[in-house]
Amino acid sequence: MAILVYAESHEGQYKKAAFEAVSYAKSIADLSGDSVTAVAINATDSSDALYKYGASKVLKINSDALKDFSPNAYAKAISELKDGDTIVLPATSDASSFAPILALKTGFSLVTNLTAAPSSVSPFTAERKSFSGKGIETIQVTDGGKVLTVLQNAFGTKENPVSGAEEAASVSVSDADSKEKITKTEQVSTGAIDLKDAEIVVSGGRGMKGPENWGMIEELAKLLGAATACSKPVADMGWRPHSEHVGQTGKAISPKLYIAIGISGAIQHLAGVNSSKTIVVINSDPEAPFFKSADYGIVGDAFEILPKLNEEVKKFKGA
Ligand SMILES: Cc1cc2nc3c(=O)[nH]c(=O)nc-3n(C[C@H](O)[C@H](O)[C@H](O)COP(=O)(O)OP(=O)(O)OC[C@H]3O[C@@H](n4cnc5c(N)ncnc54)[C@H](O)[C@@H]3O)c2cc1C
Repeated sequence: MAILVYAESHEGQYKKAAFEAVSYAKSIADLSGDSVTAVAINATDSSDALYKYGASKVLKINSDALKDFSPNAYAKAISELKDGDTIVLPATSDASSFAPILALKTGFSLVTNLTAAPSSVSPFTAERKSFSGKGIETIQVTDGGKVLTVLQNAFGTKENPVSGAEEAASVSVSDADSKEKITKTEQVSTGAIDLKDAEIVVSGGRGMKGPENWGMIEELAKLLGAATACSKPVADMGWRPHSEHVGQTGKAISPKLYIAIGISGAIQHLAGVNSSKTIVVINSDPEAPFFKSADYGIVGDAFEILPKLNEEVKKFKGA
């Protein structure tokens, strides 16, 4: 039997989240004695990248009916290829949107946002993010198959090279299976790095006073190779695009490092960012609630601290 894993791609290229999902599937396979089979939909990237993380087979689907993303059609395609009792998906927006449909089609249980390798595969036992990141729960699947989603930047990528082979796979998906589909995606965020994939995120709140002051944040993000984010009011006021809004009503992210500048730390904001591994808060108010969730805090005026921080990072990088 094989652990099936969806290797998500964008414009033909595998996403980092695909490598994380393959790495996670390999951690299950190592415990269960199974192999890992990756499913690639209209990917043009080399399969070597998937062998590197432990997939010994890559099923390549080339289908016009799957050219535009549709949750129903993608769930149907993957359900037709299942060859065991475990399907692993990255917890990206797309895969998270079809994971419940896939669970329904296969009759499997659904476990979302896994953060760590399973401690057991029989019964399947692993930790997942819960309560909007405020808690970690241990979940067991005691019976039947399971669809699993893996939280981005939590388990990470683990190289585990195997020799692999590609196989062409055909599925009976037609245009009629796409009850709705995304036909066009336009990039509206200014950052070059996808927020959900980013390992470092520099984020600004209302304390930044206005959109004209975002140059400092963008400079820090560029220096650190980070994505930029913001609080909800900042997006609501049009200072930044809504694609950057993080929190309960925005994106939920889990970078290795989250730098929050001029953000108070309201519970609705924390809901989207408190799975970050390390949180740094810069705020002029020592009583700002965000400091309670911070690993490192700087009390001070962002307009004094940020230029100095940027200079220090430049010096450090120069050295
Ligand atoms: C149903 C619901 C859903 C919501 N969803 C979200 C969500 O998804 N995401 C989200 O972010 N919010 C959300 N909110 C809004 C949330 O409650 C807060 O109002 C919001 O997060 C506050 O944004 P802020 O921290 O940028 O602004 P403020 O609360 O105004 O805080 C600004 C901070 O900047 C600091 N500051 C001011 N000047 C400086 C300076 N010069 N240097 C350094 N620091 C400075 C201040 O001390 C303050 O702490 C939601 C609210 C509701 C009711």
